[in-house]
Amino acid sequence: MGFFSKSADKNNDSEKDRWRDKYLNLLDAQDLSEKTHKQNQELLCKTIVRLSIVASGFDPQLEPHLLRIRNHLKNGIDSHQLKAELENFTDVLARLSDVSLNRQDSHQKQHADADLSLLFAFLLQRYTSTKQQQALNRLKESSESWNDPQRLFAAIAEIIEDGHSGNMPIQQPEQSAEQFLPFQQQIDAHFISTQLLHLLEHIEIPDQFIQKAQTLKQHLTVHDEALSFEAIVDNVISLLIEISSNGQPKQQEIDKFLVHITEQLTELGLAVTGSNIAVIDASLDRSKLDQSVSEQMSDLQHRSMHATQLEPLKAVISSRIAQITQEIQEHKQKEAIQREKSQRQMEALSQKIKAMESETGELKSKLITANTYALRDTLTDLPNRLAYDERVKIEISRWQRYHTPLCLIIWDIDHFKKINDQFGHQAGDKVLAHVARQLSEHARRADFIARFGGEEFTMLLPHTNKQSAFKLAHKLRYIIEQSHVNTNDILLSVTISCGITQFIKGDTHESAFARADQALYRAKEQGRNQCCLN
Ligand code: GH3
Ligand code: MG
Ligand code: MG
Repeated sequence: MGFFSKSADKNNDSEKDRWRDKYLNLLDAQDLSEKTHKQNQELLCKTIVRLSIVASGFDPQLEPHLLRIRNHLKNGIDSHQLKAELENFTDVLARLSDVSLNRQDSHQKQHADADLSLLFAFLLQRYTSTKQQQALNRLKESSESWNDPQRLFAAIAEIIEDGHSGNMPIQQPEQSAEQFLPFQQQIDAHFISTQLLHLLEHIEIPDQFIQKAQTLKQHLTVHDEALSFEAIVDNVISLLIEISSNGQPKQQEIDKFLVHITEQLTELGLAVTGSNIAVIDASLDRSKLDQSVSEQMSDLQHRSMHATQLEPLKAVISSRIAQITQEIQEHKQKEAIQREKSQRQMEALSQKIKAMESETGELKSKLITANTYALRDTLTDLPNRLAYDERVKIEISRWQRYHTPLCLIIWDIDHFKKINDQFGHQAGDKVLAHVARQLSEHARRADFIARFGGEEFTMLLPHTNKQSAFKLAHKLRYIIEQSHVNTNDILLSVTISCGITQFIKGDTHESAFARADQALYRAKEQGRNQCCLN
């Protein structure tokens, strides 16, 4: 038993082990199978959820099915209800597919509408913000835009761009596009490709995007296995956004740049017109400069209006501004030199004028002094004979014009020779000055007294008749008679005689003077120290 038993036991054990291993292997296989199944189930579940999300918005008929599918998936993949729902969904999908195919055979316009409807469905699914959704729906309803692909593109690009900042890539949906590629291709790939090709062919593509657009057109025409349809569409939309955002900011940038340039040129213009207007010699240069600046400005304006690219425009404007600035600098330097020159000339002229002014002033005062000296007697400080001759003319013409009375008195110091002889010439001078002062101080303001010559004085009394003149003469004679002149401690007294006459019709100075002189002669003859009227 021992060996056999052992052997039998051994065989028995081996059989057991074999069965146990087989059982364990089976368990492992089952575990693996369950695991794989579970993974597949999860994957399937995920895929269906993603499919349902992707398909949302494509057609209202699918919506309730998609919603129910997602709800059933919460209970697991084995659900009979899910199976039934998926079958229903497949039927609806097949019917929709038939409708789409029928649409392809219909009229061109209807075809385009169908394409656009799919494009909008696609866009509505991709760009989900409320603002974008509303804008896309509005655009979809506005059929007039559809006739112009360029306008439609611009409107779409604007909406899409609204959700992106700058050239950011389009936000990818949560699900990877490759996982539902076959479904996508069956449903809308053809229509979306056609529509995107249509757009790419009709829009204006800037040079730098032409190559990229060409490649994408090829991808849209012949689907490349290496690149998913979803990725192609994303690339096309990215390109369209890039083209759109490339154009608009550039134009804004050009506008901004032109505004800046205009301001700069205006400032330069102000600098030109504001720079030293006083320089007359510069006017010719200025008009040349003005002409040059305005020619350059109009050329810039022309170029700016026709500019499509900012960089070359910037280069041209920068070089023109540099040229204008240089011309203005040169002009300003010339002006500064001329201004300095003119300022120096002005200063020299001003100095000359000042010198002339002072010279004129001196001459004037000299002339006044000379006149004063010429018309005044230095010993008595009374107007001299010359002054009298001038004044008598004036008084006679006034008397002739207004017929107001005018009197003439000729004074003569009595025995003056004796004074000179007795007390000396200086004493005689003193007496002369004394008599002159007394006459002048006690006469009326309007009366004119002059030293006529030697010891003789003449008086002109305007507005005075002979009676008044006689009274005044007596008064003066008396004053002098009563006065004394102190010379070398000796008090001298002098008397004075006069002849008075009033100007009468037909008189000349000579005739009146002769009458007065006759009266004086009489006064002397009658004993001196008296006044005689004639
Ligand atoms: P009559 O009473 O007749 O007038 O006598 P008279 O001496 O005054 O007259 P006469 O004409 O003979 O003398 C005038 C003198 O006056 C002569 C002259 O020397 C003097 N005389 C004239 N001018 C001046 C002067 O400026 N200074 C002095 N000291 N004497 C002068
Ligand atoms: Mg005399
Ligand atoms: Mg005398």
